[in-house]
Amino acid sequence: MVSKLKSLHGVKVKHFKNTEDCSTEILPIPDRVVISMSQHIGKPCDPTVKITDLVKVGQVIGTSDAFISAPIHSSVSGKVVAVDEILMSNGQKTKAVTIETDKLQEVDESVVPPSVNSFEEFIQAVKASGLVGLGGAGFPTYVKLSPKNLSEVDTLCINAAECEPYITSDYRTIMEDAEDVLNGARQVQKYLDLKKVIIGVEDNKPKAIALLKEMTAGDASIEVASLPAKYPQGAEKVLIYHTTGRVVPEGKLPADVGVIVMNVASVAFLSKYLKTGMPLTTKRVTVDGSAIAEPKNLLVPIGTPIQNLIDFCGGFKTEPGKVLMGGPMMGIAVNRLDYPVLKNNNAILAFDEKDSREPEETPCIRCGRCVNACPFNLMPASIEKAFKAGNVDALRELKVNLCMECGCCAFACPAKRRLVMTNRLAKKMLTQKK
Ligand code: SF4
Ligand code: SF4
Repeated sequence: MVSKLKSLHGVKVKHFKNTEDCSTEILPIPDRVVISMSQHIGKPCDPTVKITDLVKVGQVIGTSDAFISAPIHSSVSGKVVAVDEILMSNGQKTKAVTIETDKLQEVDESVVPPSVNSFEEFIQAVKASGLVGLGGAGFPTYVKLSPKNLSEVDTLCINAAECEPYITSDYRTIMEDAEDVLNGARQVQKYLDLKKVIIGVEDNKPKAIALLKEMTAGDASIEVASLPAKYPQGAEKVLIYHTTGRVVPEGKLPADVGVIVMNVASVAFLSKYLKTGMPLTTKRVTVDGSAIAEPKNLLVPIGTPIQNLIDFCGGFKTEPGKVLMGGPMMGIAVNRLDYPVLKNNNAILAFDEKDSREPEETPCIRCGRCVNACPFNLMPASIEKAFKAGNVDALRELKVNLCMECGCCAFACPAKRRLVMTNRLAKKMLTQKK
């Protein structure tokens, strides 16, 4: 049933890239940051500091001995005032370090450019940098860059599609840090010995495409691919298909078809890290939506409460009906404004009551639009039926586990069925059954 991606799948969404010309502003250092020990896929870190410790910018404050993990660094200088459990925006509890800032931003002595002369030293440096996929997934980058079959990988695919409406933080990375984007890509290409780099950018960003093409003219190993602006163009398997023509088989990884995918902000960060040794302590975030007074792009210390970002953007111009961490298609709605910015947060969106209204759900009319919209040929209407019946075997058969929760099916559904939520719960049902 799920065999090959169809290039036509996905949905046309309005882009609302209101902040594309907003240069990144630096958020003033907040009074305190709350740095979660779980900011990546894999094992959360254990705090390595205790209450009353004084910390500096770039100092390691959380580590894990697990293979799939990434160290956490302090984004500020100041005093640790709490090491406890917090509730995260995804509803999970995790350990966190709260630091009262001294606003001096003293840099830790450990922050020096790494010495990198070989593949092994490169991977070690990537690991020490704390880098995880900055496009949303949060997978530790050093693991991604060292697949078992590295000798069979020939292509680095840079995800600069930024297909979610409203978000422009990756676009600003290209426009403001293009040299770092290309240098980061070249470093990965060099140390992993890859033949080709393809930077995939949606065609609704002509200035970014022109800039990257101009800067790579004469370098045959780097291609800038202009991709149709169709959501979810930036989803890993969709991007690989549209840039290389390769299909990642079910249950396989990009490396199995010779590709490694990195987000454009991740390669830009890597370039800066190799030059300065400053680990991942800040994040570029778009703040926008109909309830935000002055939408902006901000560079913020990781761990900053989202309230600070909203305040810096002039606060709410009207009572918000919904606040999202992330984009309107895949973001998480939050009910509090003290949640901290994480490594993989790329947007805070707030919408007024009108834009937040959930349309009324009506019965499924079996139109099949959800199937046509799904990039993986899943059958959301049948999944919903199986979930309601508690039919675990059918859910397995329908491969609900392949659902990446992109939201295309729900977007396309004329009956406004809550298909993503159902898929999420159905996946949980399968896990619990296991
Ligand atoms: S949310 Fe899941 S089922 Fe719906 S379109 Fe996306 S991948 Fe397909
Ligand atoms: S798009 Fe909506 S109404 Fe149409 S088949 Fe799918 S769930 Fe049913």
